[in-house]
Amino acid sequence: MAEVLKGKPVADAMKEELKQKVAALKGRGITPTLGIVRVGARPDDLFYEGGAKKTCDVVDMAYQVFEYPEDINQEDFEQAIVEVGNNKAINGILMFAPLPKHLDEKKIRNLIPVAKDVDCLTLGGAAKIFADDPTGFPPCTPAACMDMLHFYNIPIKGKRCVVLGRSLVVGKPVAMLLLREHGTVTLCHSRTLDLPGVCREAEILIAAVGRAKMVKANFVKPGQIVIDVGINEDPDNPGKYCGDVDFAEVEPIVEKITPVPAGVGSVTTAVLCKQTIMACELQNA
Ligand code: NAP
Repeated sequence: MAEVLKGKPVADAMKEELKQKVAALKGRGITPTLGIVRVGARPDDLFYEGGAKKTCDVVDMAYQVFEYPEDINQEDFEQAIVEVGNNKAINGILMFAPLPKHLDEKKIRNLIPVAKDVDCLTLGGAAKIFADDPTGFPPCTPAACMDMLHFYNIPIKGKRCVVLGRSLVVGKPVAMLLLREHGTVTLCHSRTLDLPGVCREAEILIAAVGRAKMVKANFVKPGQIVIDVGINEDPDNPGKYCGDVDFAEVEPIVEKITPVPAGVGSVTTAVLCKQTIMACELQNA
């Protein structure tokens, strides 16, 4: 039986620390504030927004929601983003993506000031992660994976880390963060040959593939740490969701594993607040 690494204790510990940081900033007359930019009202976005607001409340920081109609045109939305970016009261910006198809998302993302890019939506933000610049903010999910590893005292230095998935939002940045901490990192993707064999070589396996229960017993071996980033509809339980790892098959084999739900996903809004507070500190240094 593996040790199940839950996200809640990680998020709770982080929130306690954040409360102190917010109190210190408020003592200087500064209230860290997250700007949430949303176009339309997709249920997934609203769900995440609700979680982000709740975490802001818990750590006593502020938020402002900037909501725009689904049919906003490119010019108006560009202007709106520039205004939010210039708004001195806003320290960090979360913009829900993907944007509606008629909008040029790449252009819009890069209008966010890098100093306020707390979810790594800009090329400048990504460059900071690539260059190990400590003033850069990784996307919240890869940062949450690292916080899980740190909280549960899992050593990274010198370990063989295999990342399954190479997206800009999870796979690539988490690979960079593992590398920064001296892991020996392999990135896998849809053209990787002998995927189960490569994954079995891992000491730390991060699954970010977006395929329900794809990581089966033949992908793992005893002694491994498995971090499951996936959020997928569970094909076996309609209305529920599951990870990229087949928990029932993998959990009896490996040493430690994160569950889905209640794993990495429970840490992301705390990371969002942490990065906004850090942005606020840097902006007021
Ligand atoms: P994505 O953009 O779809 O990327 C998936 C990656 O997996 C790609 O690199 C793709 O390879 C690779 N892949 C797909 N099928 C594969 C296969 N059969 N064999 C090997 N590799 C395969 O997904 P994402 O945005 O990174 O998200 C990954 C998962 O994390 C999803 O389940 C998503 O819901 C979840 N997620 C969770 C959070 C959270 O807060 N916990 C946040 C974001 C995402 P190619 O590059 O070759 O196509």
